[in-house]
Amino acid sequence: MRHITGDCLVKKCITSGCVIIRNERALLLKHKKLNKWLYPGGHVDEGETHVEAALREAKEETGYNVRIIAKKRLGLQKRHSIEQPVPICILYENVYYRTGRHMHFDMVYLAKPIGRQGRVAKGESDSLRWVREQEIGDLDTYENVKSTLKYAFKAAKHGIMFNNPVW
Ligand SMILES: [Zn+2]
Repeated sequence: MRHITGDCLVKKCITSGCVIIRNERALLLKHKKLNKWLYPGGHVDEGETHVEAALREAKEETGYNVRIIAKKRLGLQKRHSIEQPVPICILYENVYYRTGRHMHFDMVYLAKPIGRQGRVAKGESDSLRWVREQEIGDLDTYENVKSTLKYAFKAAKHGIMFNNPVW
């Protein structure tokens, strides 16, 4: 949905991503354009749920199939009403592209990798690395990413709001 604010075109988007943690390390990728270390994520495509987008982005950007870790609250699986996992946080981000400003409502999940690493999609990330909690402070990345990573480690360690990885 687009609307005009002043002379600036503003677009509202749902975006989705996940912090993939295994063996007390989080999987980060060096973003090509931004040149920062980020967890995988991106825009939710047409006809896709935010969970499907998080899984797809993880696969494309890191080569891993992942499962979302989140607690089931309702167990609702009806045809017209399907429970979705609760993210570890939701960030509202203002992102400035050449074509205008995007308001991003960014769902961030905790995830774990399943199986072996596959191929990273072409043109996605330059490099990948598994980062320990103690390394977050020195990472070349944004403050909101650092805060999110710290919380993800806490959530993974202490099981905040999670029980089984059922998604
Ligand atoms: Zn956007």
